This record gives sequence, structure tokens and C-alpha cells, in this order.
Amino acid sequence: MPDIQKHYKVLIIGSGPAGFTAGIYAARANLSPIVFEGSQPGGQLMITTDIENYPGFENGIAGPVLIDTMRKQAQRVGATTVYKTIIKVDFSKKPFEVFSDDNTKYTADSVIVATGASARYLGIPSEKYYMGAGVSACATCDGFFFRNLKVVVLGGGDTAMEEAVYLANICSEVLLVHRREGFRASPAMLERAKKHPKIKFMLNVVIDEVLGKEEAGRKTVTGLKLRNVQTGEIIEHTCDGLFLAIGHDPNTKVFKGILETDEVGYIKTEKSTTKTNIPGVFACGDVQDNHYRQAITAAGTGCMAAKDAEQYLESLE
Ligand code: FAD
Ligand code: NAP
Repeated sequence: MPDIQKHYKVLIIGSGPAGFTAGIYAARANLSPIVFEGSQPGGQLMITTDIENYPGFENGIAGPVLIDTMRKQAQRVGATTVYKTIIKVDFSKKPFEVFSDDNTKYTADSVIVATGASARYLGIPSEKYYMGAGVSACATCDGFFFRNLKVVVLGGGDTAMEEAVYLANICSEVLLVHRREGFRASPAMLERAKKHPKIKFMLNVVIDEVLGKEEAGRKTVTGLKLRNVQTGEIIEHTCDGLFLAIGHDPNTKVFKGILETDEVGYIKTEKSTTKTNIPGVFACGDVQDNHYRQAITAAGTGCMAAKDAEQYLESLE
């Protein structure tokens, strides 16, 4: 039997920009929230280097530094942060029940879900080796670092088309590589990419290896070893960067069958709010956003979730 722990007015699951922002706002509203950090404390920004598009930092800021500052800010204004992962929730009773991986039960009047989403990767060693040093899963985040350089975008969905067009306006050349001839992308998005003079397509091709070099401790990508899946031909393509656009997985396993999601698994929220299908449970950040996926939008919806929770708690009184 789990030990019953303290009751919280606001319990936040996730410690990325969405979770910490929700923590800051809820704490400043005197709601003494608790933030569960999960298996990736600090979230996705912990695995990146420079962030140049988060406002307030003229010269950019390192992802882990930004996150550490957010955590300290949340703690300073009164949020409790704990290094635990939530493994089960019961939203069918009030107060809500939430169980952590150390066999502890927490109860809460409101819950904010900020568990994020994870980009899908190929899982090959060279991809991991050059991650953040030429390999990226976010064109909006890293495209700027590839100004006038040659890049490859991998994928055949809407994200791949969108990223390719975005990068074509920054880079000197974009090669879109896809593993088959058919596309998941909508005809309109595909057409836009096909019409762009700087975007070339290579189909029926997979990536076997990311090629690169390391000089004076600095890693750079120099090309890709590609393989045609129909002929077996190996092609060495010279480029400076690889952008993966092969999908994202929202971290919603714990809420399956409890919170309403779209077909991919993103939590559905009521238009212009962070309300889920369960009154008192709110969702913010990438876990409910398969479109913008940015630190600033995650933080923005984190603020919204705390304010929605505050209003919900007032309505109970
Ligand atoms: P996340 O940051 O994904 O955090 C999710 C949190 O939930 C984690 O702390 C995790 O441990 C926790 N969690 C998950 N499941 C559980 C559970 N069961 N119990 C408890 N906790 C749980 N955006 C920009 O704006 N600019 C950039 O330059 C930029 N660069 C990026 C570079 C990389 C390599 C990546 C991967 C992303 C980048 N992004 C960037 C995107 C940005 O990181 C995300 O949009 C943002 O982090 C989303 O924030 P979030 O709080 O919604 O979720
Ligand atoms: P997606 O539709 O799932 O497409 C992923 C693509 O990556 C597919 O073409 C898939 O190939 C390929 N892929 C997957 N795993 C791979 C691997 N291991 N190696 C090589 N290729 C791999 O994902 P998405 O493009 O991110 O889109 C997700 C959702 O968001 C969709 O509903 C999309 O419409 C929506 N979206 C909309 C917009 C917009 O309207 N502006 C923009 C972006 C996204 P296969 O096709 O062969 O499986």
C-alpha cells in the first residue's frame, strides 16, 4: 500500500518550460504547487546547447542554464520540485489521485499535465554522436545555425515539408530524403516543397550513417551515407546538417484512456484554454501542441494552465 502524502491544491507533472512556468504562476497565486520532474528533469532543453529564440537573452542562452534558472525561480516563489516520475493517475475521484514511481500516493484538487513530447530518432550511433553538432530535430530551433549551408531533411510527412521550406529560406540547398515514393504529407504542403527552387528530392533512400569529423574538440557533420532501398546503391551525400522530421511521440502513456487525445496521442484541450475533458485537469506545452513545439509557446501555455487551475479552484469555493 502506498504511503498517503500531503495534499496539494495544484500538482504539476513535468519539468520543462511548461511545467516550471505553471509552477511559477501557481506559486505566486499562493497555491503552493508541487512539480514532478520525471525521467528527464528539465525536459527537452536539457539536450541542446544554444537557444537563440527565447526572448530576454540578447546573446542566447544554453538550454540547461535556462532550465536551471526556471527551476530556481519556481522554487524561490514557493513551488516544491521533486525528482520523481508519475506512473499512474486516477482522475475518476475527487481529490484526484496521482502515484509516483517510489510507491507514493499524492492527492490534488487540480492537476496540470506538462509531460512534453519526444522527437523520434533513427537510433543509429552516428546520429547520437552528432546530435546538436549538425543533427537536429527542430528547424525553427537550429536552422539559423545553417545559414548558407547545405542540409538534408528526412521524412515524408507535413513536418518534413514545412521544415524543408523553412530551411530553404535560410540554407543554400535542401535535399529532402524519404524512404519510399508515397508521401504522408498533404498534397498542398508537398506541392509547396516541390515548387521551391532550392529543394531537391531523393526517394526510396534511407540513412545508414551520419558522416563527420571532430577537430579541436568540435564536431561537425560533413555528409550522409545513404542507401537506395530498391537497388542497394550506396550514395555519399555531402552536407553540413541533418534535420530529422520523422514524427514526435507525446508523453501520454500514463493518461491513456483517461484524458482525451487525438489519434497520435496529443492531449486535446478546449479551444483557447488548457482545459482537458476532465474538469480540474489541465494540459500545457508540447503534450497538447503538435504544431508550434517551442520553449516560449510551452511556457506561455504553462502560464495559461496555472491561471485556468486558479480559476477552477476559485469556482470550487
Ligand atoms: P518538455 O521540455 O518535453 O518536458 C517534459 C517534462 O515532462 C520532462 O521534464 C519530463 O521528465 C516530464 N515527464 C514526462 N513524463 C512524466 C511523468 N510520467 N512523470 C513526471 N514527469 C514526466 N525550442 C525553442 O524554443 N528553441 C530552441 O532553440 C529549441 N531547441 C531544441 C533543441 C532540441 C534538441 C530539442 C529536442 C528541442 C528544442 N526545442 C527548442 C523545443 C523545446 O525544447 C520544447 O518545445 C519544449 O521543451 C517543450 O516544453 P514542455 O515543457 O512542454 O515539455
Ligand atoms: P508523420 O505524418 O507521422 O510523418 C512521419 C514521416 O517520417 C513519414 O513520412 C514516415 O515515413 C517517416 N519516417 C518515420 N520513421 C522513419 C524512419 N525511421 N526512417 C525514415 N523515415 C521515417 O509525422 P509529421 O510529419 O511530424 O506529422 C505529424 C502530424 O502533424 C500529422 O498529422 C501532420 O499532418 C501534422 N502536421 C501538420 C502541419 C500543417 O498542417 N501545417 C505541419 C506539420 C505537421 P512513412 O510515410 O514511410 O511511414
